[in-house]
Amino acid sequence: RQELYRETRGEPSVSRDGVSVDLLMNAGLAVDLPQLAESGAAGIGLFRTELQFMVAATFPRAEAQERLYRDVLDAAKEKPVTFRTIDIGGDKVLPYFKGAVNEENPALGWRAIRLTLDRPGFLRTQMRALLKAAGGRELRVMLPMVTEVDEILRAKDLIDREVRHLSRFAHHLPNRVKLGAMLEVPSLMWQLEELMSAVDFVSVGSNDLFQFITATDRGSALLSDRFDPLSPPFLRVLKQIVEAGAKADTPVTLCGEMASRPLSAMALIGVGFRSISMSPAAIGPVKAMLRELPVADLEVCMNGLLQRPNAKHSLRADLHAFAAAH
Ligand code: PEP
Ligand code: MG
Repeated sequence: RQELYRETRGEPSVSRDGVSVDLLMNAGLAVDLPQLAESGAAGIGLFRTELQFMVAATFPRAEAQERLYRDVLDAAKEKPVTFRTIDIGGDKVLPYFKGAVNEENPALGWRAIRLTLDRPGFLRTQMRALLKAAGGRELRVMLPMVTEVDEILRAKDLIDREVRHLSRFAHHLPNRVKLGAMLEVPSLMWQLEELMSAVDFVSVGSNDLFQFITATDRGSALLSDRFDPLSPPFLRVLKQIVEAGAKADTPVTLCGEMASRPLSAMALIGVGFRSISMSPAAIGPVKAMLRELPVADLEVCMNGLLQRPNAKHSLRADLHAFAAAH
């Protein structure tokens, strides 16, 4: 198998019936970068910038942030990289951050974009570091835990101000800045039109989206097998997101753990995703699956499964049967 994955590394990520799917990787530290070449990923679909903050003993200085971002872009060469602004708070605690508060439900608490809009110094420093590091190149940035579209507009305002500030001081700016949002809070499902027109791209955070849709703690060992993302309710949600993206002509990708397992990656392709981001070790197995996959047949099968009345809660067995038959 390892041999097969190595052989397919340079092969295009195209299905048996010619459908191309971008296979990107998730990363967060400089040590992940060699995986870009080793895995054959088409780029970095999620760079978790908070990891640099989590492994440090104090807040990383602006220069250290800029250096990391520049190293990432240099390593990626012409491949696209999507940086996610810091997603701290919740379970991602920074012991040295004195502003943190104890909350009964930290996953639902003061975290990610909520925290950085309230403490704009974080976001301003990070955006300045990103803008400088990406001088002369494209910069792709996305915001975590967006709950309402207004949060994106406020962040966009702050970014525009940083761009103006840097250009006043004659800094070398990115040739293009693309701003995206993570879709991981269910409230965005009822603002899909506004969301799609407010951003350049959307990335589904299926780990959190599933946690919040099913009211199931993503870290609970007792519940880890209880509800299945490969079930009609969740897959219908994902399909609706892909359709809203297509309607608005806004690119949609997904960067949760689902994308790392070949069977769930197959389901994602079946509901219409043409770009997914996963752990680097999953690229080989997912590509091997994709190259055998008849996407048109899968789509017919998935449509049938999702429309079937009284559908069983999990479609895992049905999807296994499709995979085995093809
Ligand atoms: C997600 O929620 O699916 C996601 C990709 O972000 P994280 O796992 O870092 O919360
Ligand atoms: Mg998340």
